[in-house]
Amino acid sequence: MTIPGAAAAEGFRTVYGAAPEGIWAAPGRVNLIGEHTDYNDGFVLPLALPHTTVAAASARPDGVLRLHSGGADGGVVELRTDELRPPGPGPAPQGGWAAYPAGVVWAMREAGLPVGGADLHYESTVPTGAGLSSSAALEVATALALNDLYGLGLAPVALARLAQRAENAFVGVPCGIMDQTAAACCTAGHALFLDARNLTQRQVPFDLAAEGLRLLVVDTRVQHELGDGAYAQRRAGCERGARALGVRALREVPYAHLPEALGQLAERLPDDLPDEPWDEPRDKRRDDPRAEPSVRDLVRHIVTENHRVEEVVARLDAGETRAIGPLLTAGHASLRDDFRISCAELDLAVDTAVAAGAVGARMTGGGFGGSAIVLVEEVAAKTVSTAVTEAFAAAGFVPPRVFTAVAGAGARRLG
Ligand code: ADP
Ligand code: MG
Repeated sequence: MTIPGAAAAEGFRTVYGAAPEGIWAAPGRVNLIGEHTDYNDGFVLPLALPHTTVAAASARPDGVLRLHSGGADGGVVELRTDELRPPGPGPAPQGGWAAYPAGVVWAMREAGLPVGGADLHYESTVPTGAGLSSSAALEVATALALNDLYGLGLAPVALARLAQRAENAFVGVPCGIMDQTAAACCTAGHALFLDARNLTQRQVPFDLAAEGLRLLVVDTRVQHELGDGAYAQRRAGCERGARALGVRALREVPYAHLPEALGQLAERLPDDLPDEPWDEPRDKRRDDPRAEPSVRDLVRHIVTENHRVEEVVARLDAGETRAIGPLLTAGHASLRDDFRISCAELDLAVDTAVAAGAVGARMTGGGFGGSAIVLVEEVAAKTVSTAVTEAFAAAGFVPPRVFTAVAGAGARRLG
């Protein structure tokens, strides 16, 4: 996939009438394993996609911020950096897509960093709203551009934190730190093993082609309305579980202590929804995506998921890449049955891929739509991909977009 660097420079010239001072890029990502663990201070294992957002930018001495994207309607958005405010009561003056980059400028200034005005133009190949984190790519490309234009000298993790702050406080999305860190810190040919508590990280070699394997991404092109409220509800439930267990975050519950922790929750949260044995067939409540999981279900997902991340990393370290397949598929079952954030399209993609011979598959990203990943033998990739596409057609679903993910580079300056 080509990086739209030249297109961004050309677009900048067309919109602003001069060449940009520089060009910066940040990628989208898929998460191999570790879903919803980041805001529980846990582990994640994302990899950068070749799909990239590029920012062409120049500093401005007058404190004006001008934003334009080839991927958004509505022309140039013009704001004053000293008037940027996170939305309070009343209409937000900087709503829409421009809130992401404007939020980065706000977060930097609020942190006391000497950031002034800028002209920015964006081009991107990251699909938006597909669970591939176009929002973090947009934020991190912006943060990197401003870091260079204003000589801030910030490290990638510091840029990731500012980008997350922008999305949390300025855009109003209560996301964890994974997406921004993946965009800022991933490197080509590696998955990023990240401890979301302190952002310590390790690059884990991830070269599937060398092993005759492939990672397919199935973008279901579905985004369910209930995503936002459900995310906040899951997050609040995890926090409630942590409080009831007397820990700062669920990451502190060791996998070996899970049965004991679930027993404690049953005693300490008498109003919690009834727990359901996860080895029983789905009941009606489970088939209603609006049905909330119990706190115990949420805790079980987070604790087992953190364990799965560590197991996946151990198997990759041992060169047993195929052995991660069942862990991915188990992760999907946990998101579907315990965390309850899957949907019919994601389940169909995963079930069909596994039935057609995939090594493993799972939904990836926040849930209720977006994308699934499928680990598959190179020789079976076409068969599996066709099976998924045909299953979607048979179910009357919108045709999915299927592509191969190769671990790409993280944020960088292009020119
Ligand atoms: P995801 O991050 O999974 O793609 P989000 O809902 O978090 O989904 O972010 C998508 C939003 O980010 C878009 O609706 C748009 O507002 C903004 N966005 C992302 N990339 C761009 C871009 N290149 N140009 C303009 N807006 C963008
Ligand atoms: Mg996003």
